[in-house]
Amino acid sequence: MEFFNDTRHVARKPHKCEACGRTIEAGELYRRQSGKWEGDFFTRAWCCDCEAIMEYYFEHIAVESEFDYWEVQDEIADRFCHACPHGGNGDDDCEEKAVWHCQRVLNAIREVGGGGAGNTAV
Ligand SMILES: [Zn+2]
Repeated sequence: MEFFNDTRHVARKPHKCEACGRTIEAGELYRRQSGKWEGDFFTRAWCCDCEAIMEYYFEHIAVESEFDYWEVQDEIADRFCHACPHGGNGDDDCEEKAVWHCQRVLNAIREVGGGGAGNTAV
């Protein structure tokens, strides 16, 4: 990584969360990362929920800094969606694979100490 910026901002205009695809509204706290990786400039925004999941992923699962969101989703579902009523009987797949905003997943992640500071803007 040639350079890397990792900050938390209050959105001044709407942004799209790169992980879940939802719109981060103006005034919402979000995570912004930008940098240069193998010659390519990138910038990305995550909403609060996805930030918690991505931090958990990098802390506990990721083996390298490259990732794709499907893989993150799969790994998280593998770890947290067992016995989740959304997935039916012991099926570890969320119907919609909606792990990004699943409160059970987020609670589990916050319990193990991953994730950011949540929604509290200072
Ligand atoms: Zn999101």
